[in-house]
Amino acid sequence: VVPATTIALSARFAGDLPEMAVPWQAEEAPDPQLLVLNEPLARELGLDPEHLRSPEGLGLLTGTVVPEGARPVAQAYSGHQFGGFSPRLGDGRALLLGELTGPDGQLRDLHLKGSGRTPFARGGDGLAAVGPMLREHVISEAMHALGIPTTRSLAVVATGRTIRRETLLPGAVLARVASSHLRVGSFQYAAASGDVALTRRLADHAIARHHPAAADAESPYLAFFDAVVAAQAALVARWMLVGFVHGVMNTDNMTISGETIDYGPCAFLDAHDPATVFSSIDEQGRYAFGNQPVVAEWNLARLAESLLPLLDDEQERAVEIAVASLGRFRVAYADAWSAGMAAKLGLPAGLSADVASGLVDELTGLMVAGHVDHTGCFRALGAAAAGDLEPARGLFLDLAGFDAWLARWLAVAPSAATMDRVNPVYVPRNHLVEEALTAATGGDLGPLTTLLDVLAQPFDERPGLERFAQPAPGDFGATYRTFCGT
Ligand code: AMP
Ligand code: MG
Ligand code: MG
Repeated sequence: VVPATTIALSARFAGDLPEMAVPWQAEEAPDPQLLVLNEPLARELGLDPEHLRSPEGLGLLTGTVVPEGARPVAQAYSGHQFGGFSPRLGDGRALLLGELTGPDGQLRDLHLKGSGRTPFARGGDGLAAVGPMLREHVISEAMHALGIPTTRSLAVVATGRTIRRETLLPGAVLARVASSHLRVGSFQYAAASGDVALTRRLADHAIARHHPAAADAESPYLAFFDAVVAAQAALVARWMLVGFVHGVMNTDNMTISGETIDYGPCAFLDAHDPATVFSSIDEQGRYAFGNQPVVAEWNLARLAESLLPLLDDEQERAVEIAVASLGRFRVAYADAWSAGMAAKLGLPAGLSADVASGLVDELTGLMVAGHVDHTGCFRALGAAAAGDLEPARGLFLDLAGFDAWLARWLAVAPSAATMDRVNPVYVPRNHLVEEALTAATGGDLGPLTTLLDVLAQPFDERPGLERFAQPAPGDFGATYRTFCGT
């Protein structure tokens, strides 16, 4: 057993970017109780799960035991929140404990959320409730199992502190692992400081951690921006294909690594509809399902602005370079999405792009009109490709329209096997997540454990799990609301 005090955490971010790192410590947790531990991830990181369960391990996971040499910091960043710029956000209730090098040689951030107020807390209490931290655990691990780049959850520990929301709730700390917590907002913070040398140091740090090939390019900072554009185009395409609504795509919630971050108000689609919004505060639908690619591009434009002084000494020329690079987002996104939809529909290689896009567009039109369940539909189409048409036919209101589409699609000989490898049976459906979190908040972790097991193998249909593949009963989906900062 390795004592927590000897776990080697580096302080690269704090060392490279002291202007953006405020040394800080976590608040005491009066009675820490482990709610969930991600043992496979612990092992991947070279951490002993048994040790993490010990009092000292729980100290590490709540920030109250700091390994020797570690320098926990709150990170500074800015952000456009719903389009309005806040120059000073930062970790109001989070801490970067440091970076960990796993047995695989990869460097990852070990980070806590809900660990108490920091100098960036503004009006907030710095705390987090058990339900929302378990929610991040469930959904981020489901995303990982789906093969979508994401921050990971190592553990959720109840602190024994009661926190005040609309009601009194049990508090918790989430221990999160990410390839880094650098965001578009980090670059906006450096740019807003007016110190070009700081922006350059931040970009060098980001290149070394995420896009090392950019360092050898003719224009390293342009190559870096290109790499972020490519990573985000690929990521958002994955969200759109699986029916994930992030819900709060502020620039402080978009990573440089291309990992999904900040599982506040996110949720998966039930019925397929681009206008879907779950977040209670997204009144204008800025972050609606169908807007996500455009918002990602908008956020990347804010990153480009922050990098302008590094792209060329002449501002006009720098803008031209940035605009040209940003223009690749649409192409990269469209390519990734079309390829993904072709796989979801089992389309054969070599099918003409016009035929493919016709099939895709007509299907999504029928899905929107019929309020068809996103996840269930693609899986039912997999069965249809294998000869069982009825489950899919049962989903559509416009049966004549669907039958006409079905005949054209079946005529291209779609591959059922390909489809079942990319179309999940099990996603974290909102009603199932709520059911598990309500039970967990009340002290019963059983439903949560079951749900985590189901979601760990999302493509592998198993007997006895039918209810996990079914849409929410009644109007649950249409009225479901999610919340930020809880
Ligand atoms: P988010 O909407 O989760 O991206 O958070 C936006 C900002 O609010 C970040 O700077 C957070 O650190 C901060 N924040 C959210 N909730 C709290 C809280 N309970 N206490 C302090 N800061 C918070
Ligand atoms: Mg955030
Ligand atoms: Mg949040």
